[in-house]
Amino acid sequence: MIVVLKPNISKKDEMAVLKEIKKLGYKPHVMRGVERTVVGAIGDERTHSTLETLAAWPQVESVMPVQKRFKLVSREAHKGNSTISIKVGSNTIVVGGKKVQVMAGPCSVESEKQLLTTAHSVKAAGATILRGGAFKPRTSPYEFQGLGEKGLKMLAKARKETGLAIITELLSEEHAEMVAGYADILQIGARNAQNFQLLIAAAKTGKPVLLKRGLSMKIEEWLLAGEYILANENSNLMFCERGIRTFETYTRNTLDLSTVPIIKKESHCPIVIDPSQGAGRSDLVVAMCKGAVAMGADALLIEVHPNPAEAWSDGAQQVTLEGFAKLMEELKPFIAAAGRE
Ligand code: PEP
Ligand code: MN
Repeated sequence: MIVVLKPNISKKDEMAVLKEIKKLGYKPHVMRGVERTVVGAIGDERTHSTLETLAAWPQVESVMPVQKRFKLVSREAHKGNSTISIKVGSNTIVVGGKKVQVMAGPCSVESEKQLLTTAHSVKAAGATILRGGAFKPRTSPYEFQGLGEKGLKMLAKARKETGLAIITELLSEEHAEMVAGYADILQIGARNAQNFQLLIAAAKTGKPVLLKRGLSMKIEEWLLAGEYILANENSNLMFCERGIRTFETYTRNTLDLSTVPIIKKESHCPIVIDPSQGAGRSDLVVAMCKGAVAMGADALLIEVHPNPAEAWSDGAQQVTLEGFAKLMEELKPFIAAAGRE
């Protein structure tokens, strides 16, 4: 159930409502918007007492059942757009606000030189977040698996040198605290999008989480996977579309841009587009970024490598440093036309 509180009620009145919700057997999740505070009451409505009596309370505006299976991520739970603030030094990067944030960097962290060269270059071109995998989910066990903590240390160094925030993939529960010690955003990869124990472990670190869409995941399943983050006391969730499996073989995956307006309609959480895994082809990245921005994406996740031909993973889809700088220029009019910065 969703309990909408009247605007400007006192803390004491709010506490009384929360106490009653708990008394009736539900777990309250408070979400503060600009105009209203909304409380998501989690519990099985078939076995618990009804919360509808709360509608009679003077400090309550309305009590609504949530029809959808996903609750905390839903628009019904939070009418405004959620924003995620990431502090790097004295700088704050906001995902889901007016500025379209660009996360850029190599598929895999390979060496300090490769990472730092890329970091300085993408920063100069306007990126605000550095991506780079230190733990890589490779299809074959014989392929490069990532540098592990050594790679995370390189990311931390790049952060210190450039002021870019860091996003990197969390591959297993056992590494959650360690990876969270280096990263500003934890990426949950497509192959782990329904690894629920990993989602819970990621949420519990308290770091913002970027949840990729699984290879063959339906949108409702993706929203429900996101629900695991919010239901575990972490409100900083962003969804990331990275292409799905279809019959098409011209591209590595089929980037489903319809997810931008769908996620915007169904959820208050930011939506990120990854055109790199999305097509698996560097020549399509610019066009897909333009489309994503025009449709209202909050951020882009783009693979950039100083020498894609020699990349240790995903060479075909990574753009060069020069290619990335040109892409950022080409995107400007699309960002402006979408009413963003
Ligand atoms: C990646 O970002 O390099 C990656 C492995 O992504 P995905 O999980 O979307 O395949
Ligand atoms: Mn990749």
